[in-house]
Amino acid sequence: METKYIKSKIDNNLYCKINGQFTRHLKSNGLTYRDYYEIYVTGLTPLCGCGMKLSFYSTTESYASSCGDPICVGKVVSSVRKNQTIEIKKQQSINYKTAQARKTVEDRKKEMEKKKETYFKKYGTTFSNSNEQKNKSKTTKEQKYGNHLFNNSTVSQLKNKNKSVEEKNIINAKRRSTNLKRYGVENCFFKKNHSKSKQRECFFKRVHFTIG
Ligand SMILES: [Zn+2]
Repeated sequence: METKYIKSKIDNNLYCKINGQFTRHLKSNGLTYRDYYEIYVTGLTPLCGCGMKLSFYSTTESYASSCGDPICVGKVVSSVRKNQTIEIKKQQSINYKTAQARKTVEDRKKEMEKKKETYFKKYGTTFSNSNEQKNKSKTTKEQKYGNHLFNNSTVSQLKNKNKSVEEKNIINAKRRSTNLKRYGVENCFFKKNHSKSKQRECFFKRVHFTIG
């Protein structure tokens, strides 16, 4: 059974907790229960990220994860959510890898069949006919643009060629600041762990702007 009396660390006397005697004793010393708990019991005053005291629950002698200000509460909630999603993503990736490793040849065959079926439903043609599609696309490009290799980068190259030096400088400065924000380097070509294909992509984008 929980004891009714508490020995005050202020004067070493016993006070009843239930009838408010202990609270009155603290009050007469100019203290709240929180003050007493932090000064005489733990010697600690945990703070919120903003520098204010964390909300205190005297009945459980525990703290909230913020000072209670709506802004700080929001920050705590969003950081918890962020950590949760990282955890969930990690777990999903582990699950996927495990599932892939467990698949038999038979499973993979079935999967491929299913993929083909979906592809057919979507595009009305099978994988093996995709060369036909490529040719069709080439013909269309030839007819439309007079160039069967035409793609969007051809358009952007042309656009870049028509830009003035000032315009190019503004774009370059913008790209550098975006890269700095995103990757910590001005040029994503130098980003660590950057995949070879991404590096190449970045390099060509740069070349287009510099000499384009
Ligand atoms: Zn706060």
